[in-house]
Amino acid sequence: MTKLKIGISEESPGWKIILQQIGVDFSEISLQSKIDEYNLLIVNELPENERFLNDWLAQNRPVLWEAKSFARWFGIPAKKKKIKFLQMNKSFSDLGIIDFNKNFYYPSTKFVFPVNEQFLFRKANSLIISFSLDDVIIDHASRRKRFFAERKELPSEIVARNSKGKIRRLIERIIQIIHIENDLPFIQKTNYPNRKNVFIFRIDTDFSSEHNARELQKICQKNSIRASWFIDTNSVRMITEIYSKMSDQEIGFHCDRHLVFPDYQRNYENIQQGLEKLHDAGIDASGFVSPFGDWNFQLAKVLGKFQFHYSSEFTLAHDDLPFFPYLKDHFSEVLQIPIHPISVGRLRRSHFSQKEKMHYYQRVILEKIASKEPVILYHHPNQQQFELWSEIFRFTKKMGLQNITMQEFNDWWRKRQDQDIQCSLENEELHFITPEPDNFLQITTKKGWTIIPKIDVSLAQINFQERQRTKGKEKASMRKWNWRDLLYDIVSKRARKRL
Ligand SMILES: [Zn+2]
Repeated sequence: MTKLKIGISEESPGWKIILQQIGVDFSEISLQSKIDEYNLLIVNELPENERFLNDWLAQNRPVLWEAKSFARWFGIPAKKKKIKFLQMNKSFSDLGIIDFNKNFYYPSTKFVFPVNEQFLFRKANSLIISFSLDDVIIDHASRRKRFFAERKELPSEIVARNSKGKIRRLIERIIQIIHIENDLPFIQKTNYPNRKNVFIFRIDTDFSSEHNARELQKICQKNSIRASWFIDTNSVRMITEIYSKMSDQEIGFHCDRHLVFPDYQRNYENIQQGLEKLHDAGIDASGFVSPFGDWNFQLAKVLGKFQFHYSSEFTLAHDDLPFFPYLKDHFSEVLQIPIHPISVGRLRRSHFSQKEKMHYYQRVILEKIASKEPVILYHHPNQQQFELWSEIFRFTKKMGLQNITMQEFNDWWRKRQDQDIQCSLENEELHFITPEPDNFLQITTKKGWTIIPKIDVSLAQINFQERQRTKGKEKASMRKWNWRDLLYDIVSKRARKRL
């Protein structure tokens, strides 16, 4: 019998976030741990339990190492090199450009064999990644980045500096490879409820006119879209007359003054003022999205203080699965739900035609479906474009996406987080400690992937689908300096001052 569980030498915050997102069964190995409790070992730090690692390696069991620990354990040299970004190649080319902005470590090739000379090496049944996952994941720096489109002038936005979502997908892919090479099924929690991917429509009201708010609500209703509205509390009239009457839509909180401050006190006062106005109108907002997607530790503390259930800030993460942000020495209890950060306004500024705008969002949606990430797009009512959004809504229906609100996704994700998936394999039969036929899991083997109910099943009975990957089209030139970026940065700095 093989237990399908990942052991990790140290449950560091970055690895914890990524393994929870990937949705695998894992735990930190202790001095009492036995090697047959796990089927894969991650060595991010050298373990206290050296005997465990020695026994593990003696049996040539699979290991995923961080290069620094690998070099230390075997006493071999490793070359340090600062990597800003990699343009992924070969079997990883669909991931396009990945921003790291951290040091990589390359073990001497006298001892290891390059699987991908940019970041991945092999020794026996061990794979070695050149970067430290915590370095890249527990990073909250942001910068302006250009996003891919099939044209010359690209849209840009100030977002998280490191490609956390793609790094998660990269780690997921490597763990998948290890399972397939060792002829074991890879079991994960699904990324959305009821087997079906989701479409979430987020609206930041940003001082919307009454007309534009009503029009946007109308096209949502016409297309049976329940959107998540994050409202500014600038006009009490708008709150009482418009937003509080949107019974079929979710109402969350955006801002009173359209700003995020570097300090605790001003963030607290700004949010408190807004929440009081919402409270007076009988609105209980459990979600928050910050102005400009800005995020900092002080804001995170304030959001925790007001007990928001979730928030969404693309300068912390974008195009990724939800996670609980790490705040220096503990995890926030406010779930972060990343979105795709390019708004229609960004496309307009980069001179997209109507047709190009639609094409842009269609491609984003198809990529999300292929990478099994929720489709979360956002809009501002004053940017109108009601016809475009009607068309996007119709496209999400055509692609079979189920529309849910951010609050609903938050609720489901928290249940997913708590779900236990202990599973073992015996004679090609999957056995679950706590079977739950209403819960679903994703399973990948060398035959492909599929979603199965969480009940005992023989691998031979499962019908697998072929894995699909979109073509990576991003070019390294996207990261070259561009005069427009400077111009946009000046504009966005000014916007932060004016309001
Ligand atoms: Zn805003």
